[in-house]
Amino acid sequence: MTTLLVALEQLLLPAECLVCHRLLGPPFADDLVCRVCRLRWRPVRRPWCERCGQPEPHFGPCRLCRGWPAELTAARSAVWLDGGARRTVHALKYEGLARVGLDMAAVVAKLVERPPPGAVLVPIPLGTKRQSRRGYNQSVILATALARLWGLTNRLELLVRTRDTPTQTALTPAARLANVAGAFRVQSAEWGVQNRSAAPHSALPILHSPLVLVDDVFTTGATLAEAARALAAAGCQSILAVTFGRASIPDFN
Ligand SMILES: [Zn+2]
Ligand SMILES: [Zn+2]
Repeated sequence: MTTLLVALEQLLLPAECLVCHRLLGPPFADDLVCRVCRLRWRPVRRPWCERCGQPEPHFGPCRLCRGWPAELTAARSAVWLDGGARRTVHALKYEGLARVGLDMAAVVAKLVERPPPGAVLVPIPLGTKRQSRRGYNQSVILATALARLWGLTNRLELLVRTRDTPTQTALTPAARLANVAGAFRVQSAEWGVQNRSAAPHSALPILHSPLVLVDDVFTTGATLAEAARALAAAGCQSILAVTFGRASIPDFN
């Protein structure tokens, strides 16, 4: 009888993969992206710059991460942002499919090295306008799911965005840097929104833990670097970054 009910539900509410539209039967009916499509996502692999995780340049030092704050020591992404992976990020960000974040977090947990024990996940915040339009922050969904999969804690409210920044999509790497400059602040119930110029280093114990910034996509790293700058200014010494997707940037490859 139960099988019949499940079959009936499948018939009435067919769960299908949002990338290839293949029907998802049990036990995968809760997935939004089927296992076949997930296997098609291209993992980001070595050789890469040990710091930013971008394919290494042919000559000279990596240009992508040279301006990063020293405290940001490594950024890693699970898959290249093309085909189905791009489609999946779009569903998470623009189609209200928050649950697909769980599928993405599962892939990150599988492909990206687990941060050290005691590390705390910190999602990149959205501006208030964008967050209220979307109804959720995709990075919070990823950070929450990843904390569970990795057995780590998170601090969803540690960073705040001080202003709404225009979308980065059409900007050059240099313009992206200018776009996010000063866009983040550290806040805590203990001392409210922190002023970057006067950081009481011992005031906030959380800043003694390694912090892991979590975002959906790594493009030039400008947003992650700026968020790391705010954490470092507040006294954090060790910062990593993790994203689901990585966009290839023609002028850096
Ligand atoms: Zn599929
Ligand atoms: Zn680099």
